[in-house]
Amino acid sequence: MIGVVGAGITGLSLSVYLEERGVEHRVLEASPRAGGAIRSSQVEGRVLDHGPQRTRATPAVAEMVSLLDLQDEVLPVDRDLPLFVYRRGRLRRVPFTPRELIRTDLLSWRGKLRLLREPLSRGPRPDETVAHFLVRKFGREAYQNLMGPLFGGLYGSDPADMLVRHSLAALLDTGEARRSFVWAFLRGAFNRRATPPAISFRDGMEAFTAAMLERIRHRVSLSTPATALESDGDGGWTLGTGDGDTLTCTDVVLTLEADRAAELLRSAAPESAHRLDRLRYNDLALVHLVGDCPLEGLGYQISYEETFRTRGVTWNASALARRGVYTAFLGGSRDPDAVTRSDDSLGKIAAEEFLAITGCSAKPLKVSRTRIPAWDRSWTAMDAVTLPPGLHLCSNYESRVGIPGRLARARELADRLAG
Ligand SMILES: Cc1cc2nc3c(=O)[nH]c(=O)nc-3n(C[C@H](O)[C@H](O)[C@H](O)COP(=O)(O)OP(=O)(O)OC[C@H]3O[C@@H](n4cnc5c(N)ncnc54)[C@H](O)[C@@H]3O)c2cc1C
Repeated sequence: MIGVVGAGITGLSLSVYLEERGVEHRVLEASPRAGGAIRSSQVEGRVLDHGPQRTRATPAVAEMVSLLDLQDEVLPVDRDLPLFVYRRGRLRRVPFTPRELIRTDLLSWRGKLRLLREPLSRGPRPDETVAHFLVRKFGREAYQNLMGPLFGGLYGSDPADMLVRHSLAALLDTGEARRSFVWAFLRGAFNRRATPPAISFRDGMEAFTAAMLERIRHRVSLSTPATALESDGDGGWTLGTGDGDTLTCTDVVLTLEADRAAELLRSAAPESAHRLDRLRYNDLALVHLVGDCPLEGLGYQISYEETFRTRGVTWNASALARRGVYTAFLGGSRDPDAVTRSDDSLGKIAAEEFLAITGCSAKPLKVSRTRIPAWDRSWTAMDAVTLPPGLHLCSNYESRVGIPGRLARARELADRLAG
């Protein structure tokens, strides 16, 4: 018996893969709903996502979509839609091809020429920050207006507090980028036609996790937190649940957030529990705005030269045909106090800044809050996290944050546990 703690997309997909491989298992979820960070709702007839707005249809995602027979529910995002960064009074197009790089007004000619020196610069130094590395490689202008906002936006983090070896190393080690980013860019590696398209689902991203839950419903206990984890004295593990039950397992997979995993590991692996407790999460506020706006694109991030509180806005209206919906992200490590404001105040800030940036009036429809692993310097604590045999971490703080990475990691672990 395998015990899986947590029914976010990692726990649910792991369960689907284990079921496929005929492995006996049970999933415990503390909340009355499955899906974790992936949550969708309908307000005034509009579909809103309160976590990820879309994902890339990598082979792992596409395979899961077809396994769940969800093809008819998929909403593809047009690959040609532009992405923008707001800088000095205007939204400016992010370049994805050499031609677009020459034409973009996001960077000055001096900034563009500075990029070309990148192949001559050295690779990352031990313990170099992402900000330092990107400025050294591409120049300050490209960092502040392009790489910083786009990369930091993925985690809600400040690249000045992220270490290359935690958050960028995997990307640096892939394909053409190993030699040089600019070289890879000129050879078309960042052309969006060469990468899997982005998708969502007709009823929002939660349709994905809801379909996983439906597939393995008999394996999942909702409203059932794991409250204790002890060795059974015979090489296995006993999971205690909130309702007083116990589950004896050969292996236990922890897919829950780092601080929650730390609570469970207090007696089984005290030193690692202490380390997991040190990992920081970024608090984010999402403000869904509704407006009748003539905007065509994926959305925008904001240049680090600007002083807006909004970090970025996803244009669900044009990217996913969601009537008039725009999702503004506030907070994160560059503005950690934002989330402590009232819903009214956050809604007002988001709407005023959206008007200032796009010239379009939109009203707040819904405000929600969530958190995401920061992948910042605090990840140094992960260097010495080791668990006793039979215990496994499988979560967005120990491997990739994005949904494609979550599925790939769950499948790899299912293969190992089945083997
Ligand atoms: C705002 C935001 C935007 C994002 N955007 C994107 C994007 O555009 N594209 C993309 O690919 N990815 C995106 N991500 C990342 C991705 O959505 C997450 O990394 C992923 O959904 C995390 O899933 P998980 O199952 O690993 O963890 P979680 O979803 O956190 O699930 C953990 C589960 O464990 C449960 N739990 C906690 N304690 C216990 C306990 N004691 N017992 C039992 N259960 C417990 C929780 O209730 C929860 O359901 C985004 C994330 C956020 C927050």
